[in-house]
Amino acid sequence: MSKPLPNASDFLPGPVLLLGAPGVGKGTQAKRLMQEFSIPQISTGDLLREHRRNHTPLGMLADELMSKGQLVPDDLVNQMVAERFKDPDTEHGYILDGFPRTLNQAEWLDGQLVAYMLPVVAVSIVVGEQELLERITGRLSCPKCQTIYNIYSKPPKNDRLCDLDGTPLEQRADDTEAVFHERMKTFEVKTAAVIEYYRSHGGRFAEVDGDRPEEEVTNGIRAALLTLRHHPEGETEGTKA
Ligand code: AMP
Repeated sequence: MSKPLPNASDFLPGPVLLLGAPGVGKGTQAKRLMQEFSIPQISTGDLLREHRRNHTPLGMLADELMSKGQLVPDDLVNQMVAERFKDPDTEHGYILDGFPRTLNQAEWLDGQLVAYMLPVVAVSIVVGEQELLERITGRLSCPKCQTIYNIYSKPPKNDRLCDLDGTPLEQRADDTEAVFHERMKTFEVKTAAVIEYYRSHGGRFAEVDGDRPEEEVTNGIRAALLTLRHHPEGETEGTKA
């Protein structure tokens, strides 16, 4: 007989990884879950864009690599994440979005988590490539509140202005079709192996169909997290431990 799912309010977040190709919705879903579980989203892409805005040496290097769809070197990204982990808001857990992206980063993260009270749980969001292209090239975001829109599937009410605060929306420089194809190549060569790493090690891994309305994807991720955290030997739709 299957065990009942615990309530979301009983969830002990710990370290959560959202994995998947560019455009699967990691950032959107991380934002929805961070509110629900009161833990921060740590997006390495956002941290690198902040460096770029501040014109730091890391930001200048990241700018060049991001515009070609390539990855920033592991050591630099790991060091940036290590700094973020020192902030007290990460004490009860966090949602890593866009990290790890290489096996080297995944192994480094394992080393960081040895002393952590809870093991990592990893959720891979899956969406077909044609849909991803549309999501990436249609994506706009608010630089003030970070709300994400899409000109095809989730357009703002007023042309290119944020519904929440009226700020002009921006398109990321790397959200073009040409850079998308480079990012997909990088994903296949470097990051697909990270997903296999979590699928085959540790047993706290789930795959969730991301080609559904946002709320349904959140429901799928929540159900997987509750199962994986509380009784990883159990099963919900989509969990492959
Ligand atoms: P994202 O916002 O997650 O799509 O990331 C945008 C870009 O930032 C990527 O295409 C990479 O150039 C860089 N980046 C983000 N996260 C990482 C990471 N974990 N390792 C290396 N480069 C990264």
